[in-house]
Amino acid sequence: MNTLEPIQENTKAAIDPAIAQTHNALFDTWFPIEQLPIPPAIAPDIAKLATEVSAGMLQAFSQSGFFVVLIGLTDPSKLPFYAELKLSQNPAVQAFLKATGGYGGLDKSDRQPLFSYLFDGELAAVTAQLAMQIREAYLSGIWDLPLAVPITEIQAPQVFVQNPEIYAKRHAPVIPPSRLRYDCATKTIQHQDGAIDYLVIGSGPGGAAVCHELQKAGKRVVLIEKGPFVVWGSMDTRSYSRLMFRNDQASTINNSVIFRSGETMGGSSTVNIDLAFSPLSGTIQSRIGQWISNGLLDAEAYSSEKIAAAYQRVRQDIGTREVTQDELNRDNLALWNGAKKYGIDPSLYHLNRFPTGLSPSPVDDKLDAARQLLLTAIQDATNPLSVICDATVDQIQFTTQSDGKTVQATGVSLTLNTPWTDYGNTVVDPSNLQIPSGTTVSIAANNVILAAGTIGTTRILLNTAKNTPAIANSRIGKGLILHPSFPLIGVFDQTINLLEGLDSATFVEAFGPTPGFIYETMGGLPAYGALLVPGNGQDVYRAVSQFNQCAGFGTMLVDTPSDDNFVTLDDQGNVVVQYNLSEADKQRFRAGIAIGIRMMFLAGAKQVIIPSNENFLNQENFDPMVGVTLTDMAQADLVEQNLEFIPNRTLLTAAHLQATNKIGLSPDRGVVSPNQRVWNVLTGEEIPNLYVMDSSIFPTSVGANPMQSIYTFAYIFCDRLLQGLSQKATLASTSAR
Ligand SMILES: Cc1cc2nc3c(=O)[nH]c(=O)nc-3n(C[C@H](O)[C@H](O)[C@H](O)COP(=O)(O)OP(=O)(O)OC[C@H]3O[C@@H](n4cnc5c(N)ncnc54)[C@H](O)[C@@H]3O)c2cc1C
Repeated sequence: MNTLEPIQENTKAAIDPAIAQTHNALFDTWFPIEQLPIPPAIAPDIAKLATEVSAGMLQAFSQSGFFVVLIGLTDPSKLPFYAELKLSQNPAVQAFLKATGGYGGLDKSDRQPLFSYLFDGELAAVTAQLAMQIREAYLSGIWDLPLAVPITEIQAPQVFVQNPEIYAKRHAPVIPPSRLRYDCATKTIQHQDGAIDYLVIGSGPGGAAVCHELQKAGKRVVLIEKGPFVVWGSMDTRSYSRLMFRNDQASTINNSVIFRSGETMGGSSTVNIDLAFSPLSGTIQSRIGQWISNGLLDAEAYSSEKIAAAYQRVRQDIGTREVTQDELNRDNLALWNGAKKYGIDPSLYHLNRFPTGLSPSPVDDKLDAARQLLLTAIQDATNPLSVICDATVDQIQFTTQSDGKTVQATGVSLTLNTPWTDYGNTVVDPSNLQIPSGTTVSIAANNVILAAGTIGTTRILLNTAKNTPAIANSRIGKGLILHPSFPLIGVFDQTINLLEGLDSATFVEAFGPTPGFIYETMGGLPAYGALLVPGNGQDVYRAVSQFNQCAGFGTMLVDTPSDDNFVTLDDQGNVVVQYNLSEADKQRFRAGIAIGIRMMFLAGAKQVIIPSNENFLNQENFDPMVGVTLTDMAQADLVEQNLEFIPNRTLLTAAHLQATNKIGLSPDRGVVSPNQRVWNVLTGEEIPNLYVMDSSIFPTSVGANPMQSIYTFAYIFCDRLLQGLSQKATLASTSAR
């Protein structure tokens, strides 16, 4: 029984008053304005704002997939677990089923108990997901900036420059005349100078680095990117939802982990927070060492000297800089001081950002892959990198030899998307192809390099496998690594102001190599903080209204690959992500979280909030709608004993997706060879001109935040490619190892 799939209503229907009533009741559940200790002087203003926010949320819900939830709560017979609910003896459930208009007609006193039941009742295995989705939708809307700014008194961050359209006109890259042309008769894109040497799919750290290196080496390179090409500096691209996979609303199939991935020029490097973890650090070197000893990486090419040399080039090209201790804000000091008192060494991050105050943009300081690697290549007058953005590659195309098994890539098919032009700050159609949106076309090339990221490359390979048996490797998508992160909030009796100054600049890697977890300072806006606070609307208000006294850091698990965790496609071709922590990973994660809690108290926190409404303190008569916060360091032991990581009861986030198209010594052990060529499952040989170079090739977790390692691997990959990566690995040659 899946929570809401069976509801097939027209989500764009006019808003029925009964549904509006359900929405109002839900808004009141999560923001019970009459019971909140709002300062009387601002209460009327907050009430007015709340009415506006509520109306805006209902409008937005009516145009999103979430509307089915409101329909189901208004008419419970449409809920997929209605038959089971009817059997429940729970009084709140019975009242809900009887009330005219469902939740909207329910007595106020029954609303919270209904949520308690959904989270923890006998049907929780299916109902908790519904409860959590509602909680997340309402709290993130309620605590968005219009209400959060006056309540918390934070300074609202500026996303766009004053006039993005004018800024974009002034700062748009000067692109040489297009070398590509579109032939609408054959629906093909061709290069006017001749055959394309390399077609690169995806512009994240992997794809951008490959384009940069191959273009610099004089190769004819064309890049295809699904997302928009934002003019650098016109907006703060960090975590902007329109630039993310599924508008930043993605989670695993059972909602156990909320995950994020960029979809824009520069890939996730354009939306991420730029923490630069050196591939020479102990935790990453220990993984690379294992891969080399398993024969998965060329020992010579990936020796620490070669990695150091490649990483030095990456740092120089990207502009990675070291943070100094005097830049740390009080948020960073929580982890810094806590770690020191615990007896372990904290470290200062390297950042891919301009030094504070030196960015040429008033709103952006990011040194992302698009700005640092692609712009120079695109603007080269003699051999420019050609770019097709707002275009999704659907499949790889092949020729097949007479044996019916041996294939060679000939190019790809791609579909043009409607470009994002809302703020007039994107470069639309940089190659001046003028292909109407929705058109599917082809482009041929001598070599294809997939760099569409863990989700994107997996999707392209799975799609291609439907028509090309040589690609149909059952290993595609398997063994997903997420680096799930468990955020901790420390409430201090002094001002922290985590949004002021340099955010996220400290980490602790003492436990990185083993047992395998890392602590990292975390920041975020109230809308994110609200999701982390357990309990009801009053509990959330109490915690979030003290936002300026809160500090945060997270425990990030270096998780273990398992075939039970994978990326696949549903019947409609949509990406589905399945992920659950194994028992062994849970064990390590609990230990890491308990140390994190101790460090937060040692740093001086008076309370520690953890994002879980499980009964981690083992209380009698526990109610998941009554928020529990930790007030004593000794309680870390109870959390370590009792936290079960129940999906939809404990919130985990992830942004480091990896390892779905692993390097393996044969097609039954990996998707790409140690040369990063895709295995042909029919011949057991490499496909000679189809490569993968992105986060998906790692055989296990890379050991820490992956961006710098991806850049470095891409540089080494290009060095090898340019030196003639000619010797083909075959099943016979690799199995000898
Ligand atoms: C919010 C966030 C914060 C992060 N913070 C950090 C951090 O601080 N430090 C760190 O080291 N790492 C961080 N990461 C992770 C890091 O950014 C990623 O691991 C890295 O960017 C992955 O690189 P990639 O080359 O594999 O692909 P991606 O960066 O994912 O890029 C893939 C690109 O391919 C495009 N694409 C996908 N499918 C197609 C298709 N079919 N056709 C054409 N194009 C396609 C996508 O639009 C995307 O632009 C963060 C990630 C996120 C999302």
